[in-house]
Amino acid sequence: MELSEFNKYAHEIVDWITEYYRHIEDFAVKSPVSPGDIIRNLPEAPPSAGEPMEDILTDFRQKILPGMTHWQSPNFFAYFPANSSYPSLLAEFLTASLGAQCMSWETSPAATELEEQVMKWLIGMIGLPSDWSGVIQDTASTATLAAFICARERATGFSVNEEGFSSYRKFRIYCSSEAHSSIEKGAKIAGIGKQNVVRIPIDANLAMIPGELEKQIQSDISQGYFPLCIVAAIGTTGTTAIDPLLPIAKISERYKTWLHIDAAFAGTALVLPEYRWMIEGIELADSFVFNPHKWMFTNFDCSAYFVKDKETLVRTFEVLPEYLKTAAGNRVNNYRDWGIPLGRRFRALKLWFVLRSFGIEGIQERIRKHIQLAVWFEMQVAQHPDFELMAPRSVNVVCFRYKPSPVTDQDQLNRLNMELKESINATGNIYLSHTKVHDCTTLRMVVAQTQVEQRHVEKAWNKIINIAATLG
Ligand SMILES: *Cc1c(COP(=O)(O)O)cnc(C)c1O
Repeated sequence: MELSEFNKYAHEIVDWITEYYRHIEDFAVKSPVSPGDIIRNLPEAPPSAGEPMEDILTDFRQKILPGMTHWQSPNFFAYFPANSSYPSLLAEFLTASLGAQCMSWETSPAATELEEQVMKWLIGMIGLPSDWSGVIQDTASTATLAAFICARERATGFSVNEEGFSSYRKFRIYCSSEAHSSIEKGAKIAGIGKQNVVRIPIDANLAMIPGELEKQIQSDISQGYFPLCIVAAIGTTGTTAIDPLLPIAKISERYKTWLHIDAAFAGTALVLPEYRWMIEGIELADSFVFNPHKWMFTNFDCSAYFVKDKETLVRTFEVLPEYLKTAAGNRVNNYRDWGIPLGRRFRALKLWFVLRSFGIEGIQERIRKHIQLAVWFEMQVAQHPDFELMAPRSVNVVCFRYKPSPVTDQDQLNRLNMELKESINATGNIYLSHTKVHDCTTLRMVVAQTQVEQRHVEKAWNKIINIAATLG
C-alpha cells in the first residue's frame, strides 16, 4: 500500500468510526452469533496475492462486525466495562503510528518519562502515598503475578530467582473466598501452587473477615507454612465487596507478609475523596493495582501498578544482557525491569490524553454520575415487590435477582434468573452478566460505560421488568 492510498482509507475509517459511535445503540449489544458462524465464512488459506483494501473493509463490515459484542455501547452493563473514550482512541491512533517499542529509556525517552509522570499524577489523584512508584502493566493479572514474584524474592533474599525452589518452606497466599481468579493463576505461575492459595471466609457484606485471616495464618505457621502474601480486594469482581484494609494491613504488618491490593475495577472511585476510606491503611501495603482500562475511560490495555519499594521490583525482574546495555544506564527508568515482558507498547500516551482531556474534575463528575445512576437502579429494585437486592452496593454495581412471590425454591429461582438473563441478552437491547451470591444466581447491573446516561439505565430497568413478567 502506498502512503497516498493509506491516507484515503485512513479518512474513510475515521468517518466509519464516527458513524459507528453515532449509531452504536442500533447494534445488538451482545453478538448473537453461534460458535463456528464466523470461521465458516473465512477462507481456509491466506491469499497468495495481496487484496484491495476495499474488499478487506467490506469483509470487516460483513463478516467480522456481526461477531462483535459492542463493549462501547451505553447499553453494555455486563462484567466490568473495558472503557474507551474519544481522547483515548485518538492517542491509540498515534501510538500505533509511532509503533515504538518502549522497553527502555533509550528506545524512546519520551515514552518512559511520560509514563513516569502520568503514574505520579495518578498517585496524587487516587490518594496513594506520595513516595510510591508506578508502572503500566498490560493487565491486573500480570500486576498481581508481579506482586507474588516480588513477595517470593523478598522473602527468600532473592534466591528463588537464582536457584529455583529448593529448601524453602511452603508459601501461602491469602485472599477472600470472593477474590479474583487471577490470584490462583498468579500462584500457579509463580511456583507457589494453587493449593497454597487460602480462601478466607467472608462476612454478610461478602468482605474478608480479618479475624479468620489471622486464625488461618497462625494455624499455618504452626504447621510449618510460610505466610507470604495477603491480597485484599478493594471491589471484588462478583459484587464489588470491599475487604477491610486497615485490620488486614495490621495483620500483614504483624506477620511480615507482602500486602497486595487488587482494586482492578473499583480503584477508579478513589478519585472521589468520599471513597478514600476504602484504602485506609494503604501505607502498610506493598503494592496496589487498578485498571484505567476498566472504569477510567482509557482503552484496554492499561493497568496501573504501584509499589512502595521500587528497588524490590527492579531487583526481581532486572535483566541486562550485553545488547540491552545503554549509556543512560540506571540514571533513568528502564521499564522492561519493572515487570514480566521485555517489549512494551507506548501506553502512557492514551492515559495522558484522557487525563488532560477530561481533567480531574471531568473524571470525578462522570464517576459520580455513574454511582448516582446505580443508586437510582438500586432504588427501583428495592421498591419492586418481585425483585430483591442480593448484596450491598459499594460503588456502581447493583446485584439483584427476580423473585416473584410464589417461587421460594432456590433451584427454581436460580433457573428463573438464568432464563431472565438469557432472554434479556437475546433481545440485543442491553447486556447483563451474572454471579453467585451465597450460592444464589444473581444478576449484576454495572453502570460504568463511558457514555451511559439516565435514559439507558431507565430503559434497562423497563426491559428487565417487562421480560421478567413474561417468564413462566
Ligand atoms: C477484572 C479484575 C481482575 C483482572 O483484570 P485483568 O486486567 O483483566 O487481568 C482482577 N481483579 C479484579 C478484582 C477484577 O475485577
